[in-house]
Amino acid sequence: MKSLVLEKVNELSLRDFPIEKSEEALGAHDVRIKMHTVGICGSDVHYYTHGSIGPFVVKDPMILGHEASGTVIETGSAVSTLSVGDRVCMEPGIPDPNSKATRLGMYNIDPAVRFWATPPVHGILRPTCVHPEAFTFKLPDAVSYGEAAMVEPLAVGVHAATKAQVKPGDIAVVLGAGPIGLVTALAAIAAGCARVYVTDIVDRKLEIAASLHPAITSVNVASESIADRVSRDTGGWGANVVFEATGSPRAAQGIFEPLCPGGCVVLIGGQSEPIAYDAGAAMVREARVENIFRYAHVFPRCVDMLASGTIDVKPLITRTFEFDQSVEAFEIAASAPPSDVKMQILLPQ
Ligand SMILES: [Zn+2]
Repeated sequence: MKSLVLEKVNELSLRDFPIEKSEEALGAHDVRIKMHTVGICGSDVHYYTHGSIGPFVVKDPMILGHEASGTVIETGSAVSTLSVGDRVCMEPGIPDPNSKATRLGMYNIDPAVRFWATPPVHGILRPTCVHPEAFTFKLPDAVSYGEAAMVEPLAVGVHAATKAQVKPGDIAVVLGAGPIGLVTALAAIAAGCARVYVTDIVDRKLEIAASLHPAITSVNVASESIADRVSRDTGGWGANVVFEATGSPRAAQGIFEPLCPGGCVVLIGGQSEPIAYDAGAAMVREARVENIFRYAHVFPRCVDMLASGTIDVKPLITRTFEFDQSVEAFEIAASAPPSDVKMQILLPQ
């Protein structure tokens, strides 16, 4: 079927791509889904421009895309919660249901997890896919396909806020105003934060951040210290939670500075190399440090929050492309226009 294929670094093509028969076979607990909307993720772009992320190296042509919504077109014989015609979004990581990590509830860190568009597993920038019922979530009418394709990145923010154990009235800092920083800020507010400071060094991104919610304050850390700003606004106490969403070793260096005594730091941004960590600054605060890897158990929560309006991701969807324009869309995404948060690709219906 016609798919967006990463042939090798810096080479994409939209072409007919043979999918393994085993991957196309519909198991008793699977559904077949016709794709509707697929978001372009920073990781898709990174595979395109670099050919690898950490230990995951693209060795053979691979279909990109993992942020998706679509429509159920066929159900396996044992499927009971979904029907043909249901609008759905899909969680892209499928763990081994019998692994120890899965049995302990931590299926996202199952070493055997198969995650779309993480080599050697193909992504879903293609007309259809087969997916387990357990990782496919029905959409209420109030949630559009575009919003539903935002559930995947939003899930990262919701998982981060959950790990932080945000309490009503907390003050949070989110380092980085990229798509993950912004969904983390929205998730932290939904979890109860009274104020979220979002930092970056690009003014346009900070303008977008501040426009999303009245509880968001943007701080350009090229000209202002976030630690000083938070200290001034909190009577010298600090923020309850600091979320690291830049993946920049420099940002991580000062991560405990804006944090209050007893506060929590959540490391979200991927770090390809070991980074310096100020253990002394963490110690005097008895800081709790959480690491997250993708997400677990949060897709239904995200869908419910989009449906109720608790979280609005519509302003984050800044451009859409037709499937035929996929290669061009990736070229634009790779140039990282500061005015774009999330670009999405619409598949032919
Ligand atoms: Zn993603």
